[in-house]
Amino acid sequence: MKCPRCNVDLQTSQDRGVEVQACPKCQGKWFTATELDEFEDLAIDPEAKAGSLYLVTRPTTLKCPVCSANLSSFDYRFYDLKIDCCPDHGYWLDAGEDQRVLALMRQEPASKERKFEAEEKWAQHMRWIQSPTFFAKIKSLLED
Ligand SMILES: [Zn+2]
Ligand SMILES: [Zn+2]
Repeated sequence: MKCPRCNVDLQTSQDRGVEVQACPKCQGKWFTATELDEFEDLAIDPEAKAGSLYLVTRPTTLKCPVCSANLSSFDYRFYDLKIDCCPDHGYWLDAGEDQRVLALMRQEPASKERKFEAEEKWAQHMRWIQSPTFFAKIKSLLED
């Protein structure tokens, strides 16, 4: 598999015990759906995990290392974090973004008290909560 940014071969590496494909040049990482779920599990308890929320997606010019389709970019939860994903194959995290995902996950207890201003936002939140996995959530978002 090639890095979507640098087009060099990705190398298998361990990120805190989770096996991922990493780019030796830009330090970006490719996670399959399962891998990213495992990675999220490192930081949060199963109840909190249900809170993943994605609001905005847009197409990018990056290519999926598996199928070469253009990746879509989405905003992670309510935070200013963009992750690129192929709905069929996985997620691309640029260097340092994995750290931010973990950091955001660890804020979860605080975000539980976050006030949802719009009721619609809350309904959307609940819909994501009921989705079985991170991957399913992304997929359903892209299919909306
Ligand atoms: Zn790269
Ligand atoms: Zn793909």
